Amino acid sequence: MSDIIKRNVSVLGPNDFTGIKLEEPADYAAGLPAVKVALQHAFSEMGVLKSFRALSHMNQKEGFDCPGCAWPDPEKPSRLGEYCENGVKALAEEATHKKVDKDFFAKYSVEELSRWSDFEIGKSGRITEPMVLRSDKVNYEPISWKEAYALIAKELHELNSPNEAAFYTSGRSSNEAAFLYGLFVRAFGTNNMPDCSNMCHESSGVALNETLGIGKGSVKLEDFDQAEVVIVMGQNPGTNHPRMLSALQKCKENNGKVISVNPLEEAGLIRFKNPQEVKGVLSSGTSLTDIHLQVKINQDVSLLKLIIKKLAILDKERANVFDHKFIERYTNGYDNLLNDVKNYSNDKLLELCGVKEELVNEVVELIANKEKIIICWAMGLTQHKNGVENIKECVNLLLLKGSLGKPGSGTCPVRGHSNVQGDRTVGIMHHVSPVLNESIEKTFGFTPPNKEGLDTVHAIKAMYDRKVKVFMALGGNFLSAASDTLYTAQALQNCDLTVQVSTKLNRTHLVTGKTALILPTIGRSELDIKNGQPRFFTVENSMGKVHQSKGLMKPASDNLISEPEIIGGIADTYFNSDHVVNWKELSEDYKLIREKIENVIKGFDDINTRSKGSGFYLPNNVRDLDFDKLPNQKAQFSICDLPKHEVAENEFILMTIRSHDQFNTTIYGLDDRYRGIYNERRIVMMNKNDMIRYDLNALDVIDLISNYDNKERKAINFLVVPYNIPQGNLAAYFPETNVLVPYDHFADKSHTPISKSIIIQIDKR
Ligand code: SF4
Repeated sequence: MSDIIKRNVSVLGPNDFTGIKLEEPADYAAGLPAVKVALQHAFSEMGVLKSFRALSHMNQKEGFDCPGCAWPDPEKPSRLGEYCENGVKALAEEATHKKVDKDFFAKYSVEELSRWSDFEIGKSGRITEPMVLRSDKVNYEPISWKEAYALIAKELHELNSPNEAAFYTSGRSSNEAAFLYGLFVRAFGTNNMPDCSNMCHESSGVALNETLGIGKGSVKLEDFDQAEVVIVMGQNPGTNHPRMLSALQKCKENNGKVISVNPLEEAGLIRFKNPQEVKGVLSSGTSLTDIHLQVKINQDVSLLKLIIKKLAILDKERANVFDHKFIERYTNGYDNLLNDVKNYSNDKLLELCGVKEELVNEVVELIANKEKIIICWAMGLTQHKNGVENIKECVNLLLLKGSLGKPGSGTCPVRGHSNVQGDRTVGIMHHVSPVLNESIEKTFGFTPPNKEGLDTVHAIKAMYDRKVKVFMALGGNFLSAASDTLYTAQALQNCDLTVQVSTKLNRTHLVTGKTALILPTIGRSELDIKNGQPRFFTVENSMGKVHQSKGLMKPASDNLISEPEIIGGIADTYFNSDHVVNWKELSEDYKLIREKIENVIKGFDDINTRSKGSGFYLPNNVRDLDFDKLPNQKAQFSICDLPKHEVAENEFILMTIRSHDQFNTTIYGLDDRYRGIYNERRIVMMNKNDMIRYDLNALDVIDLISNYDNKERKAINFLVVPYNIPQGNLAAYFPETNVLVPYDHFADKSHTPISKSIIIQIDKR
């Protein structure tokens, strides 16, 4: 056996400053600057011709789905272009002409690469062939596909139990790839399927399942046209789901109102200059937010309780503020909820949430008279110890108003990665589903395991403790996405084998198990051809609609293999071509995979036909007001506790956020244009009064320190940026500050890391 080299990699990358420039935060989103920046990214990565060709097919009916977020496409996509600035950046990253080939890996050792910033690593280009990092080497080397499959199969066979392996999925994979992957993992014998949902909307899934019977939202895109009020909570659509601004614009044009609830007042929710419209570019744009409630970090439950309490008083006076017919017919627990809110004084709730009472009263008066209400939210609500309760309190408000199951109303958890919702629908989950297992057994003839698997935080712990020895990731950048970076790095390094199916190089390729594999795959925008025929795959958007996606660009290399075929290759090799499932045949024929999805999972009838064109909606019991699965066959009101933060005098609550030049862990650039922060990522936003209190000036350098269970975690070298954020609250970018998030502190029930409410101290350098 070869010697094992201890590689001296840098887990966090460099912490140097890059030359910050500050301006006033913007008061609108999109417009000409967005077009200019988008085209700059596209042209520099893809060239002019390729850019126009690719963009004319993105989010079009016969084209490919944007590799960015999961926001739905309109029924009739604009031929002018149905994408946003950050969708263009996502495409440019994938379709870049830069290549990471064997010469690149021969030139740079993993140790050298690990000292590059995430931005530099990401900009290196597309991986062109399978690579292996052997235990006695410091550079990746080429490996054939056959040998790579054999290496994985050998390591999996050597495990004492299938539960010594974990199989992660990112939200990029198609329904076909995710279904096949989940099938293989179950056939292999484990439910260890952590996924990126565990780190983001798992709190939404748990809360919505318990209260409404489905772990997804209920709105459709057209509901925004009819909504009387849209409440956007803990979400920054201008950067993270930019085409949502068009939906809000329509709502406003139809006399709807928008309420934003967020510790930061984000440019995207102030005003929108729609670049698809001449007036959007030339005029001052559409003003979006009518009332902004600058809530303190994670005090949304306090604010919602106050709103509900005040609405209840108005309802007594006017009798028609709550939808009593709806409440009577469809809900459970109304009296308990109203009794509960009486326990809290207005003053206490106001103090906790930090919002001015006049503004709360305005919101109450507005909501009192409306019945078509949508609540949208994202990580600002989910990534807290009480993330599940945050969502349940939103559901309480919608149930009181009867704002479910009717046009213009409903729940809208806005999903991050383009198929994160679909992957879960087709079977990526660590929980055991007896219904799914029975269906798989009936369709494929093997018995799936019935032991609960590991979610993300528990998979990390199991790797750290050497209980999991093989880690495979279908997409993603696990190290940078997960909490507690140093702990997670050690967990990965404790593995015997780490395998990643990827398009581009990222930090997780550099902090690996003893042996590591990179298996490069075809991108969203690229042609996927088999036997001379182009293939398409399907995805599910944030609103439960399944549709096809078909790439058109020449793949970055002839040596790329599609995700389903990579999974088929691993499975066929592992089972030595002797299994009840014909993995090779299934993985090559996506039509066949879709037929199997149709057999196994409810709602996919006739998927091969219906997914073409604009696609089809999956069943959604909330839209039908069918709560049969729930206690008393009714939707459930919930009693939610106030968040408990024990914050000492000298401590802050920090939320990790994305910059505008960022999508999840991918860093497109160093600017955060809407917030007026340029050419720097090592910043921390701080209220001016806190700066005075701590005798800090703009651009002073501080360290951020968390201390949970007597374990100190440090993120060093951050520049103080004065910002309009509540006193006692701070904001800084991830992944740089993930190092502060303890892996073992997470949301109750959902286990989502507490990345949006980390208690920290600061230390001036
Ligand atoms: S809104 Fe989301 S899906 Fe649409 S183009 Fe932008 S990043 Fe892509």
